[in-house]
Amino acid sequence: MTDAATIYALASAPGRAGVALVRVSGPRAGDALSALAGSLPAPRMAAVRTLRQADLEIDQALVLWFPGPHSFTGENVAEFHIHGGRAVRESLFAALESLGARPARPGEFSRRAVEHGRLDLTRAEAIADLVEAETPAQLAQALRQYDGALASLYEGWRGRLVAGLAHAEAAIDFSDDGVGGEEFATARAAVTQIIAEIQAHLEDGRRGEALREGLRIAIIGPPNAGKSSLINALAQREAAIVSDIAGTTRDVIELRLNLGGYLVHVADTAGLREADDAIEAEGVRRALAKARESDLVLLLVDGTAPYTDQFPAKPDLVISNKSDLPGFQKRDGLALSLKSGEGLSRLIETLSAMVAERLETKGETPALTRPRHREALGEALASLRHGLDAPADQPELFAEDLRLALRAVGRILGRVDVEELLDVVFRDFCIGK
Ligand code: GDP
Repeated sequence: MTDAATIYALASAPGRAGVALVRVSGPRAGDALSALAGSLPAPRMAAVRTLRQADLEIDQALVLWFPGPHSFTGENVAEFHIHGGRAVRESLFAALESLGARPARPGEFSRRAVEHGRLDLTRAEAIADLVEAETPAQLAQALRQYDGALASLYEGWRGRLVAGLAHAEAAIDFSDDGVGGEEFATARAAVTQIIAEIQAHLEDGRRGEALREGLRIAIIGPPNAGKSSLINALAQREAAIVSDIAGTTRDVIELRLNLGGYLVHVADTAGLREADDAIEAEGVRRALAKARESDLVLLLVDGTAPYTDQFPAKPDLVISNKSDLPGFQKRDGLALSLKSGEGLSRLIETLSAMVAERLETKGETPALTRPRHREALGEALASLRHGLDAPADQPELFAEDLRLALRAVGRILGRVDVEELLDVVFRDFCIGK
Protein backbone atom coordinates (compact mmCIF):
# COMPACT_ATOMS: atom_id res chain seq x y z
CA MET A 1 0.00 0.00 0.00
CA THR A 2 2.73 2.44 1.01
CA ASP A 3 5.94 2.77 -0.88
CA ALA A 4 8.80 2.44 1.53
CA ALA A 5 10.51 5.66 0.52
CA THR A 6 11.68 7.98 3.24
CA ILE A 7 10.29 11.46 2.64
CA TYR A 8 11.11 14.91 3.94
CA ALA A 9 9.43 18.30 3.72
CA LEU A 10 9.47 21.75 5.18
CA ALA A 11 6.43 21.70 7.47
CA SER A 12 6.51 25.44 8.23
CA ALA A 13 5.87 28.21 5.71
CA PRO A 14 8.56 28.91 3.10
CA GLY A 15 10.65 32.06 3.36
CA ARG A 16 12.81 33.45 6.14
CA ALA A 17 11.72 32.89 9.72
CA GLY A 18 13.15 32.52 13.21
CA VAL A 19 12.59 28.79 13.19
CA ALA A 20 11.69 26.35 10.44
CA LEU A 21 10.40 22.81 10.91
CA VAL A 22 11.56 19.97 8.67
CA ARG A 23 9.85 16.60 9.03
CA VAL A 24 11.19 13.27 7.85
CA SER A 25 9.10 10.08 7.70
CA GLY A 26 9.91 6.54 6.62
CA PRO A 27 12.22 3.63 7.36
CA ARG A 28 15.43 5.66 7.08
CA ALA A 29 14.30 8.57 9.26
CA GLY A 30 16.10 7.21 12.34
CA ASP A 31 19.37 6.58 10.48
CA ALA A 32 19.23 10.06 8.96
CA LEU A 33 18.62 11.65 12.35
CA SER A 34 21.43 9.79 14.10
CA ALA A 35 23.80 10.41 11.19
CA LEU A 36 23.19 14.16 11.37
CA ALA A 37 22.74 14.60 15.14
CA GLY A 38 25.40 12.13 16.31
CA SER A 39 22.90 9.75 17.94
CA LEU A 40 19.18 9.24 18.39
CA PRO A 41 17.66 11.27 21.23
CA ALA A 42 15.20 9.59 23.61
CA PRO A 43 11.84 9.06 21.88
CA ARG A 44 9.49 12.06 21.96
CA MET A 45 11.96 14.19 23.97
CA ALA A 46 13.32 17.43 22.56
CA ALA A 47 17.14 17.57 22.37
CA VAL A 48 19.51 20.30 21.23
CA ARG A 49 22.08 18.96 18.80
CA THR A 50 24.66 20.24 16.36
CA LEU A 51 23.73 18.90 12.94
CA ARG A 52 26.74 17.85 10.90
CA GLN A 53 27.41 15.99 7.75
CA ALA A 54 31.04 14.97 7.33
CA ASP A 55 32.98 18.20 8.06
CA LEU A 56 30.09 20.49 7.26
CA GLU A 57 28.24 22.02 10.20
CA ILE A 58 24.63 22.62 9.17
CA ASP A 59 23.01 24.18 12.25
CA GLN A 60 22.36 24.01 15.96
CA ALA A 61 18.89 22.55 16.09
CA LEU A 62 16.22 21.11 18.29
CA VAL A 63 15.52 17.55 17.20
CA LEU A 64 12.80 15.05 18.02
CA TRP A 65 12.50 11.35 17.40
CA PHE A 66 9.14 9.57 17.09
CA PRO A 67 9.64 5.86 16.43
CA GLY A 68 6.72 4.26 14.56
CA PRO A 69 3.98 3.29 14.95
CA HIS A 70 3.40 5.98 17.62
CA SER A 71 3.99 8.91 15.29
CA PHE A 72 1.86 11.14 13.11
CA THR A 73 2.36 8.98 10.00
CA GLY A 74 2.66 5.69 11.85
CA GLU A 75 6.21 5.39 10.45
CA ASN A 76 9.52 6.41 12.00
CA VAL A 77 9.48 10.21 12.09
CA ALA A 78 12.25 12.71 12.79
CA GLU A 79 11.72 16.43 13.29
CA PHE A 80 14.37 19.10 12.87
CA HIS A 81 13.57 22.54 14.29
CA ILE A 82 16.25 24.53 12.52
CA HIS A 83 16.95 28.22 12.06
CA GLY A 84 14.65 29.44 9.32
CA GLY A 85 17.10 30.65 6.71
CA ARG A 86 17.49 29.49 3.17
CA ALA A 87 21.07 28.23 3.44
CA VAL A 88 20.34 26.20 6.58
CA ARG A 89 17.32 24.66 4.95
CA GLU A 90 19.06 23.85 1.68
CA SER A 91 22.02 22.27 3.48
CA LEU A 92 19.71 20.08 5.54
CA PHE A 93 17.71 19.06 2.45
CA ALA A 94 20.90 18.13 0.59
CA ALA A 95 22.11 16.10 3.57
CA LEU A 96 18.76 14.29 3.84
CA GLU A 97 18.81 13.45 0.14
CA SER A 98 22.31 12.04 0.43
CA LEU A 99 21.03 9.89 3.30
CA GLY A 100 18.33 8.39 1.10
CA ALA A 101 15.29 10.62 1.64
CA ARG A 102 13.29 12.30 -1.13
CA PRO A 103 11.03 15.39 -1.09
CA ALA A 104 7.45 14.60 -0.06
CA ARG A 105 4.57 15.06 -2.46
CA PRO A 106 1.67 17.33 -1.45
CA GLY A 107 -0.31 15.77 1.40
CA GLU A 108 1.97 12.76 1.56
CA PHE A 109 2.48 12.85 5.34
CA SER A 110 -1.27 12.87 5.97
CA ARG A 111 -1.78 10.27 3.30
CA ARG A 112 0.65 7.93 5.01
CA ALA A 113 -1.14 8.56 8.31
CA VAL A 114 -4.39 7.45 6.66
CA GLU A 115 -2.74 4.43 5.05
CA HIS A 116 -1.34 3.34 8.40
CA GLY A 117 -4.70 3.77 10.12
CA ARG A 118 -3.51 6.73 12.23
CA LEU A 119 -6.16 9.03 10.72
CA ASP A 120 -9.37 8.47 8.85
CA LEU A 121 -10.01 10.56 5.75
CA THR A 122 -12.34 13.04 7.44
CA ARG A 123 -9.65 13.83 10.02
CA ALA A 124 -7.06 14.18 7.27
CA GLU A 125 -9.40 16.65 5.55
CA ALA A 126 -9.78 18.48 8.86
CA ILE A 127 -6.01 19.06 8.90
CA ALA A 128 -6.27 20.77 5.51
CA ASP A 129 -9.21 22.81 6.84
CA LEU A 130 -7.29 23.79 9.98
CA VAL A 131 -4.48 25.12 7.81
CA GLU A 132 -6.94 27.02 5.59
CA ALA A 133 -9.22 28.36 8.37
CA GLU A 134 -9.55 32.16 8.28
CA THR A 135 -12.34 32.78 10.79
CA PRO A 136 -12.99 31.50 14.33
CA ALA A 137 -16.08 29.57 13.17
CA GLN A 138 -14.10 27.77 10.45
CA LEU A 139 -11.43 26.96 12.99
CA ALA A 140 -14.00 25.56 15.45
CA GLN A 141 -15.56 23.38 12.76
CA ALA A 142 -12.20 22.08 11.57
CA LEU A 143 -11.15 21.26 15.14
CA ARG A 144 -14.39 19.46 15.78
CA GLN A 145 -13.86 17.37 12.68
CA TYR A 146 -10.23 16.75 13.66
CA ASP A 147 -11.46 15.52 17.04
CA GLY A 148 -13.34 12.87 15.09
CA ALA A 149 -16.92 14.20 15.32
CA LEU A 150 -17.76 13.31 11.71
CA ALA A 151 -15.71 10.14 11.81
CA SER A 152 -17.60 8.79 14.81
CA LEU A 153 -20.95 9.66 13.25
CA TYR A 154 -20.06 7.80 10.05
CA GLU A 155 -18.34 4.95 11.90
CA GLY A 156 -21.54 4.59 13.92
CA TRP A 157 -23.63 4.17 10.77
CA ARG A 158 -21.07 1.85 9.33
CA GLY A 159 -21.11 -0.36 12.43
CA ARG A 160 -24.90 -0.52 12.42
CA LEU A 161 -24.95 -1.33 8.70
CA VAL A 162 -22.51 -4.16 9.33
CA ALA A 163 -24.81 -5.48 12.07
CA GLY A 164 -27.78 -5.13 9.70
CA LEU A 165 -25.87 -7.04 7.08
CA ALA A 166 -25.13 -9.80 9.57
CA HIS A 167 -28.86 -10.14 10.22
CA ALA A 168 -29.57 -10.12 6.49
CA GLU A 169 -27.00 -12.87 5.96
CA ALA A 170 -28.64 -14.85 8.75
CA ALA A 171 -31.98 -14.41 7.02
CA ILE A 172 -30.44 -15.81 3.84
CA ASP A 173 -28.94 -18.76 5.71
CA PHE A 174 -32.17 -19.55 7.53
CA SER A 175 -34.53 -18.86 4.67
CA ASP A 176 -34.77 -22.53 3.68
CA ASP A 177 -35.86 -23.42 7.22
CA GLY A 178 -38.48 -20.67 7.09
CA VAL A 179 -37.07 -18.92 10.18
CA GLY A 180 -35.25 -16.05 8.46
CA GLY A 181 -38.19 -13.68 8.63
CA GLU A 182 -37.37 -12.29 12.03
CA GLU A 183 -33.74 -11.63 11.14
CA PHE A 184 -34.85 -9.86 7.98
CA ALA A 185 -37.33 -7.70 9.88
CA THR A 186 -34.64 -6.68 12.38
CA ALA A 187 -32.32 -5.69 9.57
CA ARG A 188 -35.04 -3.74 7.78
CA ALA A 189 -35.95 -1.83 10.93
CA ALA A 190 -32.29 -0.87 11.45
CA VAL A 191 -31.98 0.31 7.85
CA THR A 192 -35.17 2.38 8.09
CA GLN A 193 -33.76 4.17 11.12
CA ILE A 194 -30.37 4.77 9.46
CA ILE A 195 -32.09 6.16 6.35
CA ALA A 196 -33.91 8.73 8.52
CA GLU A 197 -30.65 9.76 10.22
CA ILE A 198 -28.67 10.11 6.99
CA GLN A 199 -31.49 12.08 5.43
CA ALA A 200 -31.61 14.52 8.36
CA HIS A 201 -27.82 14.88 8.14
CA LEU A 202 -28.03 15.68 4.41
CA GLU A 203 -30.83 18.22 4.86
CA ASP A 204 -28.76 20.68 6.84
CA GLY A 205 -28.99 23.56 4.37
CA ARG A 206 -25.34 23.04 3.38
CA ARG A 207 -24.40 24.44 6.79
CA GLY A 208 -21.01 22.80 7.14
CA GLU A 209 -20.01 23.29 3.52
CA ALA A 210 -21.06 26.96 3.55
CA LEU A 211 -19.17 27.53 6.78
CA ARG A 212 -16.06 25.97 5.32
CA GLU A 213 -16.25 27.64 1.90
CA GLY A 214 -17.94 30.88 2.99
CA LEU A 215 -21.63 31.84 2.84
CA ARG A 216 -22.62 33.44 -0.47
CA ILE A 217 -24.54 36.71 -0.28
CA ALA A 218 -25.82 38.50 -3.41
CA ILE A 219 -26.84 42.17 -3.49
CA ILE A 220 -29.46 42.78 -6.15
CA GLY A 221 -31.53 45.84 -6.97
CA PRO A 222 -32.25 48.45 -9.61
CA PRO A 223 -29.44 50.57 -11.07
CA ASN A 224 -28.36 53.51 -8.89
CA ALA A 225 -29.90 52.09 -5.74
CA GLY A 226 -26.44 52.18 -4.17
CA LYS A 227 -25.23 48.59 -4.57
CA SER A 228 -21.62 49.54 -5.33
CA SER A 229 -21.66 52.04 -2.48
CA LEU A 230 -22.93 49.32 -0.13
CA ILE A 231 -20.21 46.89 -1.07
CA ASN A 232 -17.61 49.62 -0.59
CA ALA A 233 -19.05 50.51 2.80
CA LEU A 234 -19.00 46.86 3.87
CA ALA A 235 -15.44 46.52 2.66
CA GLN A 236 -14.29 49.50 4.70
CA ARG A 237 -16.14 48.45 7.81
CA GLU A 238 -15.65 44.74 7.75
CA ALA A 239 -12.90 43.82 5.33
CA ALA A 240 -10.95 41.91 7.92
CA ILE A 241 -9.86 39.40 5.32
CA VAL A 242 -9.35 40.83 1.83
CA SER A 243 -11.32 42.58 -0.78
CA ASP A 244 -10.68 41.37 -4.26
CA ILE A 245 -11.96 40.36 -7.66
CA ALA A 246 -12.44 43.36 -9.87
CA GLY A 247 -15.01 43.57 -12.60
CA THR A 248 -16.90 46.21 -14.46
CA THR A 249 -20.11 47.64 -13.04
CA ARG A 250 -21.85 45.48 -15.58
CA ASP A 251 -20.28 42.35 -14.21
CA VAL A 252 -20.34 40.71 -10.81
CA ILE A 253 -17.94 42.02 -8.17
CA GLU A 254 -17.13 39.85 -5.18
CA LEU A 255 -15.82 40.64 -1.75
CA ARG A 256 -14.62 38.28 0.99
CA LEU A 257 -15.54 39.39 4.49
CA ASN A 258 -15.31 38.18 8.04
CA LEU A 259 -18.84 38.93 9.20
CA GLY A 260 -19.34 38.22 12.90
CA GLY A 261 -16.64 35.56 12.78
CA TYR A 262 -17.96 33.86 9.65
CA LEU A 263 -16.46 33.91 6.18
CA VAL A 264 -18.86 35.34 3.60
CA HIS A 265 -18.58 36.19 -0.09
CA VAL A 266 -20.64 39.25 -1.00
CA ALA A 267 -21.44 39.72 -4.69
CA ASP A 268 -22.48 43.08 -6.10
CA THR A 269 -24.48 42.48 -9.24
CA ALA A 270 -25.45 44.52 -12.23
CA GLY A 271 -28.61 46.59 -11.85
CA LEU A 272 -31.78 44.71 -12.57
CA ARG A 273 -33.85 46.45 -15.19
CA GLU A 274 -34.87 45.95 -18.77
CA ALA A 275 -31.52 45.77 -20.48
CA ASP A 276 -31.19 47.87 -23.60
CA ASP A 277 -27.95 46.47 -24.94
CA ALA A 278 -26.46 43.04 -25.24
CA ILE A 279 -23.65 43.52 -22.71
CA GLU A 280 -26.03 44.82 -20.10
CA ALA A 281 -28.44 41.97 -20.78
CA GLU A 282 -25.58 39.59 -20.08
CA GLY A 283 -24.86 41.48 -16.84
CA VAL A 284 -28.47 41.11 -15.71
CA ARG A 285 -28.47 37.44 -16.62
CA ARG A 286 -25.36 36.93 -14.48
CA ALA A 287 -26.85 38.91 -11.62
CA LEU A 288 -29.90 36.66 -11.56
CA ALA A 289 -27.77 33.54 -11.82
CA LYS A 290 -25.67 34.81 -8.91
CA ALA A 291 -28.77 35.44 -6.82
CA ARG A 292 -30.05 31.95 -7.52
CA GLU A 293 -26.83 30.28 -6.42
CA SER A 294 -26.44 32.46 -3.32
CA ASP A 295 -27.32 31.47 0.22
CA LEU A 296 -28.69 34.92 1.06
CA VAL A 297 -30.15 37.54 -1.29
CA LEU A 298 -30.27 41.22 -0.29
CA LEU A 299 -32.49 43.55 -2.28
CA LEU A 300 -31.29 47.15 -2.17
CA VAL A 301 -33.74 49.80 -3.39
CA ASP A 302 -33.65 53.58 -3.66
CA GLY A 303 -36.13 54.78 -1.01
CA THR A 304 -36.83 57.93 -3.00
CA ALA A 305 -37.64 56.15 -6.25
CA PRO A 306 -40.96 54.57 -7.17
CA TYR A 307 -41.01 51.04 -5.79
CA THR A 308 -41.66 48.03 -7.88
CA ASP A 309 -41.54 44.61 -6.31
CA GLN A 310 -41.10 42.97 -9.67
CA PHE A 311 -37.79 41.38 -8.82
CA PRO A 312 -37.24 37.94 -10.22
CA ALA A 313 -35.26 36.70 -7.20
CA LYS A 314 -36.96 36.56 -3.81
CA PRO A 315 -34.85 38.52 -1.30
CA ASP A 316 -34.06 37.46 2.26
CA LEU A 317 -33.77 41.11 3.31
CA VAL A 318 -34.97 44.38 1.73
CA ILE A 319 -32.88 47.49 2.37
CA SER A 320 -34.11 50.99 1.47
CA ASN A 321 -31.21 53.30 0.79
CA LYS A 322 -30.86 57.12 0.66
CA SER A 323 -32.70 57.87 3.93
CA ASP A 324 -30.87 61.23 3.96
CA LEU A 325 -32.93 62.50 1.01
CA PRO A 326 -36.32 64.23 1.20
CA GLY A 327 -39.21 62.10 0.05
CA PHE A 328 -37.52 58.95 1.40
CA GLN A 329 -39.84 56.09 2.25
CA LYS A 330 -38.81 52.85 3.95
CA ARG A 331 -40.15 49.59 2.50
CA ASP A 332 -40.15 46.40 4.61
CA GLY A 333 -36.79 45.69 6.13
CA LEU A 334 -34.14 48.24 6.97
CA ALA A 335 -33.56 51.92 6.21
CA LEU A 336 -30.07 53.03 5.32
CA SER A 337 -28.11 56.03 4.15
CA LEU A 338 -24.84 55.10 2.58
CA LYS A 339 -24.08 58.79 2.28
CA SER A 340 -24.34 59.62 6.00
CA GLY A 341 -23.64 56.10 7.27
CA GLU A 342 -26.89 56.06 9.21
CA GLY A 343 -28.25 52.53 9.57
CA LEU A 344 -25.04 50.85 8.46
CA SER A 345 -24.17 49.41 11.89
CA ARG A 346 -27.70 48.08 12.24
CA LEU A 347 -27.45 46.50 8.78
CA ILE A 348 -24.15 44.81 9.64
CA GLU A 349 -25.64 43.49 12.91
CA THR A 350 -28.72 42.18 11.12
CA LEU A 351 -26.61 40.60 8.42
CA SER A 352 -24.25 39.00 10.95
CA ALA A 353 -27.22 37.52 12.78
CA MET A 354 -28.66 36.15 9.52
CA VAL A 355 -25.32 34.60 8.64
CA ALA A 356 -24.95 33.08 12.11
CA GLU A 357 -28.49 31.70 11.87
CA ARG A 358 -27.58 29.97 8.59
CA LEU A 359 -24.23 28.65 9.71
CA GLU A 360 -24.43 27.87 13.41
CA THR A 361 -24.25 24.20 14.22
CA LYS A 362 -27.57 23.07 15.52
CA GLY A 363 -27.72 20.31 18.10
CA GLU A 364 -25.06 17.75 18.72
CA THR A 365 -24.70 16.30 15.24
CA PRO A 366 -21.73 17.70 13.34
CA ALA A 367 -22.40 19.10 9.87
CA LEU A 368 -20.86 17.48 6.82
CA THR A 369 -18.23 19.72 5.33
CA ARG A 370 -17.49 18.57 1.80
CA PRO A 371 -19.42 17.73 -1.38
CA ARG A 372 -17.51 14.43 -1.32
CA HIS A 373 -19.32 13.43 1.90
CA ARG A 374 -22.66 14.53 0.47
CA GLU A 375 -22.19 12.48 -2.72
CA ALA A 376 -21.18 9.32 -0.89
CA LEU A 377 -24.05 9.61 1.60
CA GLY A 378 -26.47 10.24 -1.26
CA GLU A 379 -25.27 7.02 -2.84
CA ALA A 380 -25.60 5.14 0.43
CA LEU A 381 -29.11 6.47 0.86
CA ALA A 382 -30.14 5.39 -2.64
CA SER A 383 -28.81 1.87 -2.05
CA LEU A 384 -30.55 1.57 1.32
CA ARG A 385 -33.87 2.72 -0.11
CA HIS A 386 -33.49 0.29 -2.97
CA GLY A 387 -32.71 -2.42 -0.45
CA LEU A 388 -35.94 -1.84 1.44
CA ASP A 389 -37.83 -2.54 -1.78
CA ALA A 390 -36.40 -6.07 -1.94
CA PRO A 391 -39.12 -8.72 -1.56
CA ALA A 392 -39.25 -10.58 1.77
CA ASP A 393 -38.29 -13.88 0.14
CA GLN A 394 -35.15 -12.38 -1.40
CA PRO A 395 -32.99 -11.17 1.50
CA GLU A 396 -29.92 -11.61 -0.73
CA LEU A 397 -31.00 -8.59 -2.81
CA PHE A 398 -31.38 -6.56 0.36
CA ALA A 399 -27.95 -7.71 1.56
CA GLU A 400 -26.34 -6.67 -1.70
CA ASP A 401 -27.70 -3.13 -1.36
CA LEU A 402 -26.48 -2.96 2.22
CA ARG A 403 -23.04 -3.92 1.01
CA LEU A 404 -23.10 -1.09 -1.55
CA ALA A 405 -24.21 1.39 1.13
CA LEU A 406 -21.44 0.20 3.45
CA ARG A 407 -18.88 0.71 0.76
CA ALA A 408 -20.12 4.26 0.12
CA VAL A 409 -19.94 5.21 3.82
CA GLY A 410 -16.57 3.47 4.11
CA ARG A 411 -15.30 5.59 1.26
CA ILE A 412 -15.91 8.79 3.23
CA LEU A 413 -13.68 7.47 5.98
CA GLY A 414 -11.11 6.05 3.56
CA ARG A 415 -11.96 2.52 4.68
CA VAL A 416 -12.68 0.20 1.83
CA ASP A 417 -11.70 -3.06 3.46
CA VAL A 418 -15.33 -3.95 3.99
CA GLU A 419 -14.87 -7.66 3.41
CA GLU A 420 -12.17 -7.87 6.03
CA LEU A 421 -14.37 -6.11 8.53
CA LEU A 422 -17.24 -8.43 7.78
CA ASP A 423 -15.07 -11.45 8.57
CA VAL A 424 -14.36 -10.06 12.01
CA VAL A 425 -17.94 -9.14 12.72
CA PHE A 426 -19.35 -12.44 11.53
CA ARG A 427 -16.98 -14.27 13.79
CA ASP A 428 -18.14 -12.19 16.74
CA PHE A 429 -21.80 -12.49 15.90
CA CYS A 430 -21.66 -16.27 16.10
CA ILE A 431 -25.07 -16.79 14.58
CA GLY A 432 -25.16 -20.54 14.84
CA LYS A 433 -23.99 -21.79 11.48
P1 GDP B 1 -25.54 51.05 -8.00
O1 GDP B 1 -25.80 51.40 -9.41
O2 GDP B 1 -26.72 50.36 -7.39
O3 GDP B 1 -24.28 50.30 -7.78
O4 GDP B 1 -25.45 52.45 -7.20
P2 GDP B 1 -24.16 53.29 -6.79
O5 GDP B 1 -23.57 52.75 -5.55
O6 GDP B 1 -23.30 53.48 -7.96
O7 GDP B 1 -24.90 54.66 -6.40
C1 GDP B 1 -25.68 55.40 -7.32
C2 GDP B 1 -25.71 56.86 -6.93
O8 GDP B 1 -26.41 57.05 -5.71
C3 GDP B 1 -24.30 57.44 -6.70
O9 GDP B 1 -24.27 58.71 -7.24
C4 GDP B 1 -24.18 57.47 -5.19
O10 GDP B 1 -23.32 58.49 -4.75
C5 GDP B 1 -25.60 57.75 -4.78
N1 GDP B 1 -25.90 57.24 -3.44
C6 GDP B 1 -25.65 56.00 -2.96
N2 GDP B 1 -26.10 55.91 -1.70
C7 GDP B 1 -26.64 57.09 -1.35
C8 GDP B 1 -27.30 57.61 -0.18
O11 GDP B 1 -27.47 56.94 0.86
N3 GDP B 1 -27.75 58.89 -0.22
C9 GDP B 1 -27.60 59.69 -1.33
N4 GDP B 1 -28.06 60.91 -1.27
N5 GDP B 1 -27.00 59.22 -2.45
C10 GDP B 1 -26.53 57.95 -2.48
